Amino acid sequence: MKLSVPFIPDEKYTDFLKNKTLNIESIYFSLHSGQVLDSRLRFKETGLHELSKGLQALGSVKKYCLLNSRFIHPGLYNDKLFLNQVLDKLEFLVSHSTITGIVFSDAYFLNAMAATKRDVISCLEAVPGINCMIDSSQKAVSFFEIIEQTGFKLPGKIVLDRSLNRNLKQLEKTGNKIKQQYSPIKIELLANEGCIYYCPFKFAHDAQISFSNLRITTDKTLRTNQRIGCHAHFFKTPENFLKSPFIRPEDMDRYKGMADSIKLCGRTLGINFLFNCIEAYIKKSYKGNLFNLMDAAYWLSDLYHIKNKNLDPGFFNTLTGCTKDCKRCNICQDLFIKTAKKKSLEIKNYKDCL
Ligand code: SF4
Repeated sequence: MKLSVPFIPDEKYTDFLKNKTLNIESIYFSLHSGQVLDSRLRFKETGLHELSKGLQALGSVKKYCLLNSRFIHPGLYNDKLFLNQVLDKLEFLVSHSTITGIVFSDAYFLNAMAATKRDVISCLEAVPGINCMIDSSQKAVSFFEIIEQTGFKLPGKIVLDRSLNRNLKQLEKTGNKIKQQYSPIKIELLANEGCIYYCPFKFAHDAQISFSNLRITTDKTLRTNQRIGCHAHFFKTPENFLKSPFIRPEDMDRYKGMADSIKLCGRTLGINFLFNCIEAYIKKSYKGNLFNLMDAAYWLSDLYHIKNKNLDPGFFNTLTGCTKDCKRCNICQDLFIKTAKKKSLEIKNYKDCL
């Protein structure tokens, strides 16, 4: 199964991806310049020309621009200058780097771009982002109906909500129904987020990121998660990490027939993380600490070492086939005790923190 991976305009990383194009289904990237319009926190900005050069180097790999902020400032929906600037950049990337489409979460923003009636819109697929949390065919259809009205192309793929990774019956049913109605659409699954199962903090976290990217507040998302969010939750009950609907590299093939590609995330963790993670999923095997492959739960790698190989052979069947009635079940707790080693605190090299 091929991978969809983040793209960062870094020469070393671009060369790495160039050598892996046979394994890559698509890449996705931040627009980087100016306003932050994607769902992650602001990090190093890159000029449009540099971004375009990096994208060109990857030839015919499908390329998606992330415009998937949970929301943008309401004033921007009617701001013609802003909307045209975004579409100018997309037009530049379509003509110079043949990008395939955009990823969105905020359907108002999609409609606002469509209202400009710019020609470039009909050249781009609009793909609902993973944070649209599409977990049923009806929900997918609802998104597709809106996209059809905008004049953007229907998506060539859809990333289903991560909760379906651990509910194979619903995954198969949802994927089949979507394919029947919207053939030749492809189904993608997110493998390595490592968030809480049906995370109760999700919507508020996405909103806090948008507030911060809009500069309405300084970024407090990490601190909030450490005090009263997912970090605090996993710190108290680390065994609950095993319920997180991640897909191990070894288990990718179990989704054959239900999914066409696997998405990897973690672009804010830097290129060394991505090298390691992408290699593991290409090889479908990883000998290291499972936390080192996770995005949101990467920080747990400082506290625990779960030897990924020790989860073989029963992990997939147990966690996808269980009752999810955790109050009456100790399996995850027992498995965590058996496989996770608490680490002594180590001070990292400065360069490893970048
Ligand atoms: S029901 Fe048991 S095996 Fe399933 S997620 Fe809950 S604790 Fe883990």
